[in-house]
Amino acid sequence: MSTIVLATRNAGKVAELHRILSGIEVVGLEAFPDAPEVPETELTFEGNALLKARAIAAHTGLPAVADDSGLCVRALNDMPGVLSARWSGRFGAGDADRANLELVLDQLADVAEDRRAAHFVCAAVLVVPGGPEHVVEGRMHGRVIDAPRGTGGFGYDPIFLPDGHDRTSAELTAEEKDAISHRGRAFRALAELIPQAIEAARPR
Ligand code: IMP
Repeated sequence: MSTIVLATRNAGKVAELHRILSGIEVVGLEAFPDAPEVPETELTFEGNALLKARAIAAHTGLPAVADDSGLCVRALNDMPGVLSARWSGRFGAGDADRANLELVLDQLADVAEDRRAAHFVCAAVLVVPGGPEHVVEGRMHGRVIDAPRGTGGFGYDPIFLPDGHDRTSAELTAEEKDAISHRGRAFRALAELIPQAIEAARPR
């Protein structure tokens, strides 16, 4: 069985990728305690995902998958974007998710319902040591509502209403969200490329 390493310490993401990839063992960074912390210093989702996957492929010698994601709000010029996790400046301190979504709600306070379009983006990349790099992107379109609803998911889910749904992404089940989410779409697209990419890089 082939092994790939997912460049994250988030057990939820490892479980999600595991559900999507059958026949491939997925391990997270908890299996590599000395793996480097990679700061997300690029200006694009793809750039940040590549930074992480390249560093982890080099450290482990294994094919590495990484992702970077965020919320793009049209009325905010597609921000918070790559700054989604630290939009309120409270990254890693207190309830950053809550502070971030409250700041977006305040910023949109005077914006009419029909001008609140937004989408989540996930760039997912695969870097095979000595082999190719693959980049895919998934999106989930919808709009930002004016008050949080629901307790599922994380981040901006309680204020995001996916197109075609009357429940926020925090009110969907995990399976319902996976089926339409930016990360679900990106991981499923990447999953199709993984077996071939690993085979192509195998020494003969
Ligand atoms: P990362 O991809 O783990 O770096 O996530 C970046 C940030 O984007 C998160 O901290 C959330 O604020 C936001 N985000 C990404 N995906 C989602 C999602 O599925 N729901 C809600 N917020 C998300």
